[in-house]
Amino acid sequence: MAFRSIGAGGRAEDGGEDSRGGGAGSGKLSFYEAAPDEEISLEDFEEYALDRLRVLKGIEEERSRGKKMEEMDPLVSDLWRKHMGSDSSKKDVISHFILRLAYCRTYGIFFRFSLFWISRLFNSRVFSEDLRRWFLGIESVLFRHRFRCEMPAAQQKLMDDCNLPYKAMTSAEIEAVKENLESVARSTNQVSNSKMYYKVPFEDVPELVSGRKVYLRRGEAFVPREQLSFLVVGQFRSRLSKALVLTNRKWISFIAGEEKDRLAPMVEALSTRYLGPDYTQPKSSNEISLQDLDQLAKASFPLCMRSLFFQLRDDHHLRHGGRQQLGLFLKGIGLKLEDALAFWRAEFSRKVGVEKFDKEYAYNVRHNYGKEGKRTDYTPYSCVKLIMSTPGVGDHHGCPYRHFSEDKLRASLGGLGLNSRQVSSALEKTRSQHYQLACAEVFEAVHGCSSDGINHPNQYFEQSRALLQQPKEEPASGGENNNNDANEEKTTLMIS
Ligand code: SF4
Repeated sequence: MAFRSIGAGGRAEDGGEDSRGGGAGSGKLSFYEAAPDEEISLEDFEEYALDRLRVLKGIEEERSRGKKMEEMDPLVSDLWRKHMGSDSSKKDVISHFILRLAYCRTYGIFFRFSLFWISRLFNSRVFSEDLRRWFLGIESVLFRHRFRCEMPAAQQKLMDDCNLPYKAMTSAEIEAVKENLESVARSTNQVSNSKMYYKVPFEDVPELVSGRKVYLRRGEAFVPREQLSFLVVGQFRSRLSKALVLTNRKWISFIAGEEKDRLAPMVEALSTRYLGPDYTQPKSSNEISLQDLDQLAKASFPLCMRSLFFQLRDDHHLRHGGRQQLGLFLKGIGLKLEDALAFWRAEFSRKVGVEKFDKEYAYNVRHNYGKEGKRTDYTPYSCVKLIMSTPGVGDHHGCPYRHFSEDKLRASLGGLGLNSRQVSSALEKTRSQHYQLACAEVFEAVHGCSSDGINHPNQYFEQSRALLQQPKEEPASGGENNNNDANEEKTTLMIS
């Protein structure tokens, strides 16, 4: 495919001193203001986008673990080297623009939907704006680390190319105001090891000016090098934000229509693409039997599957979205086709009768196992896919942390045995739209140990089984009875 121009842009070059030697600081950084004008194959189109997505998701994961900016530098460099390669400027620019297309979308596209969907419009809009905000935030973090890894000469070249009025001061200029710079640093208790300063228009650093944290002369603020990345990232973020709005307009007005049979489905699927392990086949060798299901649901199902499972047990019916979500999950944890048919038949027949089940619903169960239609072995849904789904009235599928009302979620978390502090903390994460973090926190509360983060309901299940099946440690002498009590109490909490 060939890219169409969406703006103008520049590149930095290697040079200078103080390289951090990171793979992300390749000297090819840009503000992505000009879309590449070249042909690439559809395979490369998808591969480039997925590789950048792996970098962005990796950054998100590390940040969610509370890593500081300095700790992130080597991690981002490793991620970049691993997925984007060392000579990656072409891939860098192309992949950025593909993801810009995927993540620029907002509610505009939803106006095409019929009136039936208008009741859901608000949720859809919020989530689509989340997409844009997520991309803007993580791309800015990536840019900041790559900028910090660049040498001063490359940084200056980038700033010049992007018409940023920030100039490195010469040694003579610094020497002339040295006492003033030291006096500002002393008065604000700043510890600056910087031997480099930049002249910046004072209106670009209002916080430093109002906090008297910077020396000013003739409308210019003299900013130490450590502060430079904040300024440049601010500019990057603001330009990217505007560019995303423009890209979205173009996407709606012609790109989506022109590419509706070719690129549009690929681009739209990128934002829900799951990049972790495949759970089509069960990871553990343990067979799941029908008799075990209720206990497994209580002990090891994530909230999304647990609530669907017990909804089915109560109502003996689930609508299509719920059947797909739960059915594929059960397949992924190891429920054989015969058992799956028996499970769904036992429930549905109580509501619709055996004959109707065999006629209208059994096909779908076999279809999910690749025994009907195109004979595709369907994959269980990831967290992102479930979080992005839009359950309607009467549906029970989706992610509870995103789709349940706060009261319902609070009650569900209480049902897992969480105390009020743990419930409040999970709700707090949910309110700030960190649904998977909330889920990971609940996992930790229920299992009493840390988790590696939750990206997939089947991953939650696998992690839970691995923990619960660990051989119990030998009790310390003299404490046998107490420890047994504690173990029993914990088991009750997990399966109640
Ligand atoms: Fe399920 Fe994922 Fe939501 Fe947890 S975060 S409830 S595993 S969809």
